[in-house]
Amino acid sequence: MAGNDENPAGSRYIRLIRNLYRSGGYVFAAKAEDIARQHGISRVARLASNENPWSPSAAAVREGHEALKGANRYPDESMAMLTGALARFHGDYSFVTGVGMDGVIETIIRTLVNPGDRVAISLPTFSFYRLAALAQAAEVVEIPREPDFSVSTGRFIELARDAKVSFLCTPNNPTGTVIPAADIRQILSGIRGILFLDNAYVEFSDTDYLPLMKEYDNLIIGRTMSKAFALAGARVGYAFIPGWLAPFYHRAATPFTLNTVSARAAIGALEDRTEMERYVAYVQQWRDRFRTECPLPSCPSGANFVMFDTAPFSGDEMALLLAEKGVIVRSCASFPGLPDHYIRVSVGDAWENELFLAVITEICRSCA
Ligand SMILES: *Cc1c(COP(=O)(O)O)cnc(C)c1O
Repeated sequence: MAGNDENPAGSRYIRLIRNLYRSGGYVFAAKAEDIARQHGISRVARLASNENPWSPSAAAVREGHEALKGANRYPDESMAMLTGALARFHGDYSFVTGVGMDGVIETIIRTLVNPGDRVAISLPTFSFYRLAALAQAAEVVEIPREPDFSVSTGRFIELARDAKVSFLCTPNNPTGTVIPAADIRQILSGIRGILFLDNAYVEFSDTDYLPLMKEYDNLIIGRTMSKAFALAGARVGYAFIPGWLAPFYHRAATPFTLNTVSARAAIGALEDRTEMERYVAYVQQWRDRFRTECPLPSCPSGANFVMFDTAPFSGDEMALLLAEKGVIVRSCASFPGLPDHYIRVSVGDAWENELFLAVITEICRSCA
């Protein structure tokens, strides 16, 4: 877990660190090995990071292996092979790539945001938009979602109208909420700046926002190979981007960020569409079982996780009770804009899901 406001011991040079980085940063999931050791458990269910529990597809592994043989050379800076594979998968769009979607988000902000510019973010959501915007000295405007975690288009447009960039996540992390495409269309027409639509989990939902790319030139759609395509460790993200913006993105990007091995593994994964679809169908099945069999109230989810309401327990308390039984989930206490009584549970391997359902049922029964 990232630090707090204390100075790390001792250095006279701590004053050189930017204020922003002296306080907390990104919150990482608890490590399975640490939980196992702490609670004397041999097998831990890892349901905290929305990872695909399965190995990358055989094609991804083969391509990555091949690419490693040529790793003495720098990558093709245009990533033409990867964008070619993306065009075969999605059709004719303008693509940019990065080190995870996180890398794409960082580069987009670097491309667009001057110090003091407004960046609008809908809460509760993924924390990295805010961190990346603050790193670029943006003025962050936070727009709360409605009590049912939907986005009020009128309220969003009012507060985001003059922002340079606005971020909307759908399906949203951590709530799982899907925003109707018609609402996104309304928002795109109502704001003056650019909308970054984070679609990290869109493969698991039945909503398609891509038609909007043809209608608006202020829309960026971010995607990742980390979730549906099982390549979280390879760090490959990409975005659909308006044609006019692409050359500026390349100017702002760090040279050669995405490496050849990861890029080729991503090409392999994209060519194995049936493997991805098999995982998506598996997730949808388990997502329904989570919602019907877990005794806690939950939110409808279009993602590979479900958010549960743990009241009267706090999310931290419930995450601890589950960890003691070998199940790591994400307490949502660190998500600004969300009350402290939620956990987010990823769909994992079948035995992990069964363990979660058994343990949570037991906890709820003993506290009833
Ligand atoms: C996982 C995730 C990402 C980023 O994933 P990368 O691994 O950096 O590609 C982006 N947005 C949301 C909402 C996510 O959950």
